[in-house]
Amino acid sequence: MSIQYQILGKPGKDNALMVWMNAGTKMYRLLFDCGENIFADLKPSEITSIDYIFFSHFHLDHASGFDYFFRRNYDRVSKPIYIFGPEGTTKFIQHHMLGFKWNLINNIPGEWIISDISDNQLVTSKFYTSEGFSKRHKINKKKFDGILINNNHFKVKVSLLNHIIPSAAFIVTEKDWSNIDKEELTSFGLTAGPWLEKLKNPSTDETKIIQIDGKSFNLKKLKKLLLKKHEGDSIAYLTDFLYDQFSKTRVKKLIKNCKTLVCESQYSSSDAALAKKNYHLTSLQSARIAKSSNASKLILFHISERYNFDKRYHRLLEEARTIFPNTFLPLNWP
Ligand SMILES: [Zn+2]
Repeated sequence: MSIQYQILGKPGKDNALMVWMNAGTKMYRLLFDCGENIFADLKPSEITSIDYIFFSHFHLDHASGFDYFFRRNYDRVSKPIYIFGPEGTTKFIQHHMLGFKWNLINNIPGEWIISDISDNQLVTSKFYTSEGFSKRHKINKKKFDGILINNNHFKVKVSLLNHIIPSAAFIVTEKDWSNIDKEELTSFGLTAGPWLEKLKNPSTDETKIIQIDGKSFNLKKLKKLLLKKHEGDSIAYLTDFLYDQFSKTRVKKLIKNCKTLVCESQYSSSDAALAKKNYHLTSLQSARIAKSSNASKLILFHISERYNFDKRYHRLLEEARTIFPNTFLPLNWP
């Protein structure tokens, strides 16, 4: 069980975040934003295995790579594709889909489930490749409290921030998990077997007595002795918003105590006026957010191309570290 991630795209160019949520028996792939050329950093088999795409908003630098993804997944057989984004997402995606001719599709597979997020409401629709994406099947319109996904392994929460238009911020939180402490198992002289599954399964009745090697054991007591508990990991994705009271309050509530914060740093602190004008963050503002939300680690990304000459974007890292020392640039950046 773990969360792994990679910032896609080069410094000063369009960026995105890829998250691999390893749930032991299953791997979930989550992509945050979809700008130009971001897929160059992924293997083709990864691109065709993405489960969820989360759009912060639909400015070109966050969405112009979508056609590339669509080309490789329009007829996916293995599983549906889920897309989430602020209000208007369904319309935007359907426009892309309808931008092509579909007269030869016959019964081509492909299911697309798209949700529009607003403050209190989630509207979800479904599209089929076999219909040439012409029909919008409304699945539901429900009141919601910001939780987009909540399964046995992880949760995804969203909050809309101020980028003149709404810009969605997300956090992925792995559920706490446990595994068998092998040293304890050996020290009690117990033989591993199918009974361990009962121990790991949280829905098993704890009052049960189970048989191991011909002896009776109380399941609750065994759990206490043999299960090692682990706190779930978390990663937050913040991009494109003004550092105003509205966004600060929402961000603090959304990402409190997150382990890894991936946060835009479009401008140096010396260009704070530009950041304010364009509804973006400076390096110092990103660092303040990491500090006030008690994050463990900050990764700066989505930095303006103006700092590419001579790798000046490293200065933004130095600035951020004056406030939040545990700040880094993406590993694959020079
Ligand atoms: Zn933007």
